[in-house]
Amino acid sequence: MSLFNTLTVADVRRETADSVSIAFDVPEALKGDFAFTAGQYLTLKADVGGREVRRSYSICSGPTDGELRVAIRKVEGGLFSTFANDDIGPGDPIDVMKPDGRFVLKPDAAREAHYVCIAPAPASPRSCPSSARRCSANRNPRSRSSMATGPRSP
Ligand SMILES: Cc1cc2nc3c(=O)[nH]c(=O)nc-3n(C[C@H](O)[C@H](O)[C@H](O)COP(=O)(O)OP(=O)(O)OC[C@H]3O[C@@H](n4cnc5c(N)ncnc54)[C@H](O)[C@@H]3O)c2cc1C
Repeated sequence: MSLFNTLTVADVRRETADSVSIAFDVPEALKGDFAFTAGQYLTLKADVGGREVRRSYSICSGPTDGELRVAIRKVEGGLFSTFANDDIGPGDPIDVMKPDGRFVLKPDAAREAHYVCIAPAPASPRSCPSSARRCSANRNPRSRSSMATGPRSP
């Protein structure tokens, strides 16, 4: 059985000069398989220049946002990130693995907390910290979150 399902790209949004976010249409029959927790990631597979390339991207939408979205920063000389930034458009089919990852936020509606996210900003402009922040705010409105971002990594 294939680990991948072919999803259709619903929307591509330019987030910064060198990053895009991509949302997928998830058919009703696959909604359960693609339910996710803040902090999880998707593995995408595509044919890039005749080569099968698989790469992982953190889900940047919140679990209750009603969409499945990842953000991809273009890495110089990078196969998949260049393809994603330059060539992927709405309606394109992309092979996507079910959400994975155990480094997740387990929000507790009864607990008022201050969540601190540290992210190398340009690498993941809207990724897991963003998903975690949305999730924590939704579960307990008295919870706070702070995000520290760094400069571009070398
Ligand atoms: C769990 C997880 C979550 C992630 N989440 C995100 C996310 O939310 N957003 C995001 O943007 N990224 C994320 N990443 C990183 C992402 O998976 C890719 O690694 C990234 O997009 C680069 O892939 P690429 O195919 O573009 O680059 P690659 O083709 O893999 O190349 C990477 C770099 O290596 C260089 N290189 C490649 N081959 C060679 C070679 N033979 N010799 C010398 N140099 C070489 C390239 O020039 C480039 O600079 C995540 C990774 C993981 C594991």
